[in-house]
Amino acid sequence: MRILVVEDETRIADDVGAALRDAGFACDFATDGEDAWFKGDTEPYDLIVLDLGLPQLDGLTVLKRWRAAGRTTPVLILTARGSWPERVEGIDAGADDYLPKPFQMPELVARVRSLIRRAAGHASAVIEAGPIAVDTRQMRVTVDGKPINLTPLEYRLVSFLIHNKGRVVAPVELLDHLYGDEESRETNALEALVMRTRKKLGPNSIETRRGFGYLIPDGQP
Ligand code: CA
Repeated sequence: MRILVVEDETRIADDVGAALRDAGFACDFATDGEDAWFKGDTEPYDLIVLDLGLPQLDGLTVLKRWRAAGRTTPVLILTARGSWPERVEGIDAGADDYLPKPFQMPELVARVRSLIRRAAGHASAVIEAGPIAVDTRQMRVTVDGKPINLTPLEYRLVSFLIHNKGRVVAPVELLDHLYGDEESRETNALEALVMRTRKKLGPNSIETRRGFGYLIPDGQP
């Protein structure tokens, strides 16, 4: 899952980025409204954290433009403390959730996880597919109840595929959602990642559909 963090205060942006990466997400950054608008309009983010007070173009305007352009990416807005009219305006403009500043990082991460889950149609924090279960709160993956040790990148792969279980995901889509702007993306590396992860989870965990992509089957009979 790949997240865009829009925040002009470097310290907050760094902290949010670190917390989200620790929680298993890939992260990109924008520090002004114009850049935010462009990135959110051209890259397929799974979620956007959007500060409202931004240079060049304020966050509300950016959000309205995304929605007017048909972008349905979940958006969590960061608002000034006590400014309830700003929150109302943000939600009316198409924000999915809000957090007043200052906020506690675990709360931000929990809201992000929940929004991403719900956007993919999952109500529970534990997503299951056949023998595989992913606990998104602890970034724990089990197969038939047995915990599996995964690297952060392997976890990102399993997490994205299980959020999209039952659907074949093309390599180019996976590359878009597993890696941030500054990470190198190679189809060969992706293939190797899938093979490594499949070895850990078991032979029938991640299916390869030649010429189309990869999937974790739904697990429903
Ligand atoms: Ca700001």
